[in-house]
Amino acid sequence: MEPWKFVRGFERFSLCDWPGNTCCVIFLGGCNLHCPTCHNAEMAWHYESLPALKRDALLDFIRQRKKWLDGVTVTGGEPTTVPGLNVILSDLAEIGLKIKLDSNGMRPEVLEQILDLNVVTTFAVDIKGPYEKFPQLTGNAVTAEEAQANIEKIFALASAQPDKFYFRTTKVPLLTDDDIETVRTYLPHGFSLTEQKFVEPRRTSHAEANS
Ligand code: SF4
Repeated sequence: MEPWKFVRGFERFSLCDWPGNTCCVIFLGGCNLHCPTCHNAEMAWHYESLPALKRDALLDFIRQRKKWLDGVTVTGGEPTTVPGLNVILSDLAEIGLKIKLDSNGMRPEVLEQILDLNVVTTFAVDIKGPYEKFPQLTGNAVTAEEAQANIEKIFALASAQPDKFYFRTTKVPLLTDDDIETVRTYLPHGFSLTEQKFVEPRRTSHAEANS
């Protein structure tokens, strides 16, 4: 499928998606996890029911608003599940705005390829919680061992290019303060953890019926 067909949502202006930057936000459909606390379940699991946005119109729109924006956030769902993500990012990079890519960190090999592409300014990687809680936190999509291996590969990438990465954890109801501290201990030297407040997900009846 043509990669732009995965673009199923767009927010024109955001002050909170990229700390310190004004940005627009592009949402890509599909996700490799099944977090019970998912904030965007329809985009993650039922994106086919959302209309695809038109590539040229969207790029033109962003180009026209470029002077009011510092950058573009690309989020999901999970962007690294999109085949041809590099095409979307390269098209956006031609506009000349900075790009932030959000990821759940479970496809480090894709992040490495994107890093090599050198079009993304910032990678915002979620660490869901302590490794042993990943099965519960992700709807059993990954084991603790898989989570640890994936996150540690990303830490290696981040240690080599520390200015390109930051890490964040959303304090979902399943996480205690001690869990947040445990995650902090995982981070490579020089990184700090951004703790995000959990916002109760809004589910459409369609998403609720199928999740
Ligand atoms: S990784 Fe993000 S988009 Fe995917 S299921 Fe979890 S919360 Fe939802």
